[in-house]
Amino acid sequence: MKSENHIRQMVIETACAMSNSGLSPGRSGNVSQRHEDGFLITPSGMAYSELQPADIVFVDEQGRADENGREPSSEWRFHHDIYRQYEAAGGIVHCHSRFATVLACCNREIPSFHYMVAVAGGKKIPVAPYALFGTQSLSDHVVAALEGYRACLMQHHGLVTYGDRASAALELAHEVEQLAAQYVSVLQLGSPALLSDRQMEEVIERFKTYGKSAQKGGQG
Ligand code: 13P
Ligand code: ZN
Repeated sequence: MKSENHIRQMVIETACAMSNSGLSPGRSGNVSQRHEDGFLITPSGMAYSELQPADIVFVDEQGRADENGREPSSEWRFHHDIYRQYEAAGGIVHCHSRFATVLACCNREIPSFHYMVAVAGGKKIPVAPYALFGTQSLSDHVVAALEGYRACLMQHHGLVTYGDRASAALELAHEVEQLAAQYVSVLQLGSPALLSDRQMEEVIERFKTYGKSAQKGGQG
């Protein structure tokens, strides 16, 4: 198992990479990674470029944050509830990326217009209904929307993704943002034809083995 300090560094690196790539404006968004019986998460409202390992907050299984540390992200509830509900979640990224947010504001899910939509685990990328940021209602909506998916849009808000670690969740967030941008462009030309359920099932099957040999002996 990785040391706590190493995970704190990984959370900071992922948060800075998210911010520096322009995926989430200003101080928006948050990043976490599972650790022991809880998770390590970015603090609320801090500039990513200023983060030090001690600023990352540990939140335990019961949702209790270390009292001597910073305030955890206002969205710690959905991070907590995703880890509790989805065993495969080892890291989570939430961002307000441009095109995912555009679609989320129109309550438009991303359908099977491109085979890469299966990268999020299913035949589409759903939208979680709106609720005020930081609330249990928002967490409930996000957890329900993620059933069968590793990413969902958040109505009038943004995007959330999970992976086996924070950096994998960030990679998925970039993929989803790219798909959202393509889908917005496609919509300007008319209504795209969609891949069938069967075609998407084939893709999902292929993804089970795609790229696996490249990971052998890779990061662990
Ligand atoms: P935090 O700075 O509290 O993580 O909030 C950012 C955000 O995106 C809320 O949805
Ligand atoms: Zn947000």
